[in-house]
Amino acid sequence: MHELKIAEELLGIVLQVAESENFKKVTKVNIQFGKMIMIVPEIFHSVFEGAVKGTIAKKAKLNLEILAVKFICKKCKRETEIDDLLFVCPLCGSNDLEMTQGRETIVESIEGEK
Ligand SMILES: [Zn+2]
Repeated sequence: MHELKIAEELLGIVLQVAESENFKKVTKVNIQFGKMIMIVPEIFHSVFEGAVKGTIAKKAKLNLEILAVKFICKKCKRETEIDDLLFVCPLCGSNDLEMTQGRETIVESIEGEK
């Protein structure tokens, strides 16, 4: 369950931002994960809830979005979204693909009250 490790890292970032912004409490955390990170949103929500206990982020609402996997096909030069993780260009069948989205962990924004 790598969600726990990621949730702890995220909490570290959240608390750092909260401190530099002088937040008394964190109200909302907006985060995006590429599909390749293989986050299960339900699990992530529950481990995050556990991780924030006793911190100023304990009431924070977690807004989690999964980003689709996207590739540029080196053969037909088109960018496509791939759903089934087969890594074959649905437009021309080539498997010479370069991933352009899908592995990222983005802390989009952190909201809080001062
Ligand atoms: Zn192609």
